[in-house]
Formats: sequence, C-alpha cells, structure tokens
Amino acid sequence: MSGAEAGAPLFDRLCLVGVGLIGSSIARLAKERGDIAGSIVATARSAATLARVRELGIADEVEPDVARAVQGADCVILCVPVGAYAKVMAQMAPHLSPGCVLTDVGSTKGSVVRDLSPLLPPGVHLVPAHPMAGTEHSGPDAGFASLFQGRYTIVTPLPDCDPDAVEKVRELWRRAGSNVETLDPATHDKVVAIVSHLPHLIAFTICGTADDLAEETREAVLKFAASGFRDFTRIAASDVDMWRDIFLNNREALLEMLARFTEDAQALGRAVRWGEAEFIEDRIRRGRRIRRGLVERGQA
Ligand code: NAP
Repeated sequence: MSGAEAGAPLFDRLCLVGVGLIGSSIARLAKERGDIAGSIVATARSAATLARVRELGIADEVEPDVARAVQGADCVILCVPVGAYAKVMAQMAPHLSPGCVLTDVGSTKGSVVRDLSPLLPPGVHLVPAHPMAGTEHSGPDAGFASLFQGRYTIVTPLPDCDPDAVEKVRELWRRAGSNVETLDPATHDKVVAIVSHLPHLIAFTICGTADDLAEETREAVLKFAASGFRDFTRIAASDVDMWRDIFLNNREALLEMLARFTEDAQALGRAVRWGEAEFIEDRIRRGRRIRRGLVERGQA
C-alpha cells in the first residue's frame, strides 16, 4: 500500500483536532518518529492551548480555525471529547479533502459513527479508533510519545469502509507501539463499559459517598486512604468534560453493566449479611484470578 513503506511517512499532512493528553501524545510521537506524518497541523478550542502547543514545538503549524486546519490534510484525527464531535464535524466537513482519512481517538464508538457519518463528504474515509491508553491528566503538557506503547488500540471500521484507509489507521497505531484489534462499534462500547466506564462511575460514586460522611470521618478517610480508597481517587481525578461526554454517549451499554454490577454487588452484600463464607471466598478468588490474567497479558 502506498505510503506504508518502512521509513516513509504514512501521511503527508496530519491534522490533529484537539491537542490535549491524547492529541499532544500523537503529535509528540509523530515528531519523534518522523515516519507518521510529513507535517503536523494542530488546532484546539482555546488560545491558551494553541499558544502552549506553539511553545512546546510539537506541531509544524498551529491553526485556530478548524475549517482551515483540515484543508489539504490526508489524515484528520479528532482528539476532542466525544460530546463535541457533531459540532466540530459540522464546522470541518465541507473543508475535508477527497481521499482524506478521518479517524478519532474517542472512548465511545457508536456515538462517533452516529455523529460523524451523516456529514461525511463523498470520498472521505471514516475509520473510528480508540487507543486504550490514558492517564487522569489532561491538556497539551500531559502528553508523552510512549503513551500508546504496549497498549491496545481498537479500530471499529464500518463494513463498507475503504480497506486501504483502514490499513493506514491500523499502521498508524502499530507505529505508535499499540497492539491493534478490530471490533464492531457496539461490541467495543460494551467492552469499554465494563472495563473502563463502570469503574469510573464507581470511583466517582465512592469518592462522593466518602465526601458525604460527617466531617470527622471524612478526615480519617483521607488520612488512611492508602488502604484501597486511594486507587479510586486516582481514577476519580479524571477530566469532567471528557467523562460527562463518555457517560452520556455510552448510555445503554453503561446502564446495562451498572444493572448487572448492582445485582452482583447486592448478592455479595447478602452473603456478608448471612455469613456465607464460601460465597465470599469464591468472589475474592475470582478477583485474584482476573488480576493474575492481566499480569500474564502484560496489562497490569
Ligand atoms: P484533553 O486533554 O482534555 O484535551 C481535549 C482537547 O479537546 C483540547 O485540545 C480541547 O481544547 C479540545 N476541546 C475540548 N472541548 C472541546 C469542544 N467543545 N470543542 C472543540 N474542542 C474541544 O482530553 P484527552 O484526554 O486528550 O481526550 C481526548 C479524546 O480522547 C476524548 O474523546 C477521550 O474520550 C479520548 N480518550 C481519552 C483517554 C484518556 O485517558 N484521557 C484515553 C483514550 C481516549 P482546549 O484545550 O483549547 O480547551
């Protein structure tokens, strides 16, 4: 496939729409490797982010206007919260070049297809993707080139998508050091609902519950947080806009997982109430098995 030869840049002109944690990590990676893009143009919403991207020198061009930024790009990567996709797409769609590969990094995929497909100009190839790598930090200073190394990236191409465009997106993530997998958008959304979205929902909730406790108890919670609560607070420190958008855009799958989780949590609570030691032990053993499985896959 043209452009995918070792050493040659995969794309001539890569446009990053949004340069926070994920967008700036891609920019750093592309700069560092040199075989991802001939040139990088970056656009973001605020003047402060644009100024910081210029200072950091992680893009060749910084363009405040998204319509101008995407012009002439043969790859555009959306790196904004998923709730902003429809609006951003309306601004940029008429300016996308024929043949351009339009991809993204959003944490939900059904909503991405829903929001981008209707405005897709003829000849522009939509290949949604989700690098399953991140931290609780955001903004252009938070990114780093090795973020995607050894992590999974899930590509969710539509059945009628151009195979060359799909292959280019897969190659992009391989060059980022990711293990690339393909899923359909609905399966993706179910999987991330259980492995990522529900754990965040639980973390936000448990922090809120602890915060609701009387003043004296709350102090003790913070003091002795190392016993497990601390791990929840790390997850709960995540970006507000991003997580609001994820919850609202993966509604069905998240609610389904929450319902199952609630049933299972109540079953464990019931076992505690009735002193059913065997049931409790079984749940703990299952947890340990799952952790071992992650360690063995190098995902711990
Ligand atoms: P981030 O650090 O907060 O950066 C978001 C970027 O989007 C910023 O450049 C911001 O511009 C821009 N933006 C925010 N709201 C916008 C709006 N309404 N219209 C236009 N631009 C807007 O976020 P991130 O962590 O990189 O996340 C970006 C995407 O990656 C999200 O879709 C998220 O679901 C996905 N993702 C995140 C993670 C993670 O762990 N963080 C992991 C995998 C995938 P300003 O800075 O100018 O406001």
